[in-house]
Amino acid sequence: MIYDLVGIGAGPSNLSLAALSPKHLNAMYIERRPEFSWHKGMEFSFADLQVSFVKDLVTLADPTNEHSFLNYLHTNGKLYHFLNAQFQSVSRKEYADYFKWVSQRLDNILMSECVLSVNFDEDFIVETDKRTLRSKNISVGVGKVQYIPSFARPLLGNNNFHVSQYKYNDHQLAGKKIIIVGGGQSGAEAFYDLISRDKDDAVKQVYWITRRDNFLPIDDSPFTNDLFMPCQVEYLQQFSYSKKKEYVRKNILTSDGISGKTLNDIYQLLYRYQFLEDNPLEFKLMPSRSVEGLTKIGTKWLVNSRHLEYEVDEHFEADVIIWATGFCDGPKNFLRPIDHKLEKVGVGEEYMVDNDYSVVWNGPKDRNIFMLNSVKNQKGLSDPNLSLTAWRSRKVLDRIENKACQQVANKSLVEWNPIQEIEPFVEQGLIREAKASI
Ligand SMILES: Cc1cc2nc3c(=O)[nH]c(=O)nc-3n(C[C@H](O)[C@H](O)[C@H](O)COP(=O)(O)OP(=O)(O)OC[C@H]3O[C@@H](n4cnc5c(N)ncnc54)[C@H](O)[C@@H]3O)c2cc1C
Repeated sequence: MIYDLVGIGAGPSNLSLAALSPKHLNAMYIERRPEFSWHKGMEFSFADLQVSFVKDLVTLADPTNEHSFLNYLHTNGKLYHFLNAQFQSVSRKEYADYFKWVSQRLDNILMSECVLSVNFDEDFIVETDKRTLRSKNISVGVGKVQYIPSFARPLLGNNNFHVSQYKYNDHQLAGKKIIIVGGGQSGAEAFYDLISRDKDDAVKQVYWITRRDNFLPIDDSPFTNDLFMPCQVEYLQQFSYSKKKEYVRKNILTSDGISGKTLNDIYQLLYRYQFLEDNPLEFKLMPSRSVEGLTKIGTKWLVNSRHLEYEVDEHFEADVIIWATGFCDGPKNFLRPIDHKLEKVGVGEEYMVDNDYSVVWNGPKDRNIFMLNSVKNQKGLSDPNLSLTAWRSRKVLDRIENKACQQVANKSLVEWNPIQEIEPFVEQGLIREAKASI
């Protein structure tokens, strides 16, 4: 059998494709985990989704689709309660449960199966650890993996770990001196969890270090959210790769800052400890520092950090180091057999994709490899985020089915592209003068 599409990974990116696929599309998704999970190692009870719940797997491309978050609430008999609760944002735990609910309603996901290689011979040949599949198209949705500075990687263990492993290690933190490195949402959540523990479970000391100038908030204001609309992806398309990359870097706090609620919760708790209660917790918040070295001395860690404004070194001792230093693209070694046919951009940084997220390659035009969530520098800050997941899926499916774009255009209220309102000037014969003064 030849599939129309084989999806590698069944996280939200490919799950959205699966949920939006028409019945006649012959697709199969391969997921190496035994069951669906979404950032389980960071499932804090207080952690909320950083986008609207409407940005689910399907709604922004097909509001009538049965796999929506609203239908999840309805089917599980909690739609009225959800409304009555008047949440400002949805808990990540509940959204993970929604994703899992969708994954269980779909019958074309093979769990506990890992894709090992993809080759090409008229069709793609996908080799897993259990079988071989042939497909006309591939969608790569393997997500991100933890990023940790290289000097700390050889020393990883249960007292020196990435924040994505927090929940698997948090039972052994009581009474310890802890350093969190990284000032984004993940670092903030780990910090809040550590400072808000009950007496029996309390840690002795928490230091929170970030390179950023301060503990900076995510910008969730209306015009910033314009960056998470389809028209923004189209706008970026005209730029060179280096310009797009710079644009992403400049606007990073639109997606990687800390949510206002988490910042308030942290500040208010620290206020209570400082001024209202006699809490023995020792804490320090340290912006403008870069951690540059880690040494093991007996059972302790010695952290070498550089103050970026004063340009001096500082040293701190800790029992446990938690790296909240972000994520990078998941490895795609399975593409090695066809890698030489695939175009790349930057210094081999990303696979080059076209408007439909299809990799530019030396192969037949009707055979595509779609890259989901690993082309941020080309498609912008929405790429790793849930905001445009449904829209991207629709684009991919239209391409597979060779259909013209099926989506309603959402024109921005902002004029991102250059405009020239020259007619009145031409009429008045002023255009030359105007041009000369630009
Ligand atoms: C803690 C945390 C909170 C977040 N919160 C938000 C939020 O509130 N809003 C938002 O918009 N975004 C959020 N994000 C961004 C997040 O990355 C996306 O929401 C989403 O998880 C991306 O989905 P994905 O399918 O691309 O990747 P993933 O969710 O990482 O899924 C990839 C899947 O591929 C599987 N896989 C990998 N390699 C193979 C292989 N060789 N064979 C088979 N399977 C494989 C993995 O097991 C995994 O299940 C958050 C990220 C983190 C880390």
